[in-house]
Amino acid sequence: MSLRIVVCVKYVPDATGDRKFADDLTVDREDVDGLLSELDEYAVEQALQIAEEADDAEVTVLTVGPEDARDALRKALSMGADKAVHVDDESIHGSDVMATSLVLAKAIEKTGYDLVIAGMASTDGTMGVLPAILAERLGVPQVTLLSEVKVEDGKVTGRRDGDTASEQLEASLPAVVSVTDQSGEARYPSFKGIMAAKKKPVEELELDDLDIDEDEVGLAGSWTAVDSADERPARTAGTIVKDEGEGGKQLAEYLASQKFI
Ligand SMILES: Cc1cc2nc3c(=O)[nH]c(=O)nc-3n(C[C@H](O)[C@H](O)[C@H](O)COP(=O)(O)OP(=O)(O)OC[C@H]3O[C@@H](n4cnc5c(N)ncnc54)[C@H](O)[C@@H]3O)c2cc1C
Repeated sequence: MSLRIVVCVKYVPDATGDRKFADDLTVDREDVDGLLSELDEYAVEQALQIAEEADDAEVTVLTVGPEDARDALRKALSMGADKAVHVDDESIHGSDVMATSLVLAKAIEKTGYDLVIAGMASTDGTMGVLPAILAERLGVPQVTLLSEVKVEDGKVTGRRDGDTASEQLEASLPAVVSVTDQSGEARYPSFKGIMAAKKKPVEELELDDLDIDEDEVGLAGSWTAVDSADERPARTAGTIVKDEGEGGKQLAEYLASQKFI
């Protein structure tokens, strides 16, 4: 039977662009450029490598995100994933990690899976807890923060590198794993891959398709919400010290005044 791999990929605001909060203090995801979270490219890469090793496997990429999140799915499809699932529903706006994990869990159950692969953290929220919550919701084992991952004989095995030791871990399938940025460079989409991605299926789902009530998601269904947010002050131009014989002294005085020395 085919090995069904679902990869959770997040569409995040481009860190090089202007990022801001919307009026309701949620992250503005509509009016900013976004992309596939860089750390999730590692998850896609590992899924593709596992699929290449298996006799028969199918890689589905899944995102919960606004309309533009399709761009993240297209990127993953052009890397080589077989199909995509996009959960987009206005009521999801404002969902925290608890509500987001509920939507992802229901979409994964609907899609069918043997292995779920996530990134180690998103590059915007960076909580790094979603894979663990997801495993709990699905009622399956979790093996997180792997820098090496393999599937053999109905089991997923992997290596987790810590500060003082490396652990070799295994879990029976179905399971949820997350992979780190040490798991192996993600491939670039080829021209052929980009063209092929245009024809690959993208399933669009709303809350009704997943039997989720509106009040289970969004700000109403979330355990946390942002109370206030202040923009960081703009960077100042800095002070240029012209060395007219006293430059070194002035520099030392500045460093001392800032308690650097
Ligand atoms: C339209 C929209 C509005 C949101 N509004 C809020 C808000 O107001 N307040 C709030 O706290 N949160 C909000 N969220 C959710 C938030 O952005 C995170 O998705 C969620 O809280 C998980 O946190 P994280 O990204 O830090 O997870 P992490 O634990 O850092 O993520 C680990 C991994 O989980 C997977 N993952 C995480 N999020 C997604 C996703 N959306 N789709 C697919 N895979 C995912 C990725 O593989 C990722 O690498 C919103 C999300 C969306 C899509």
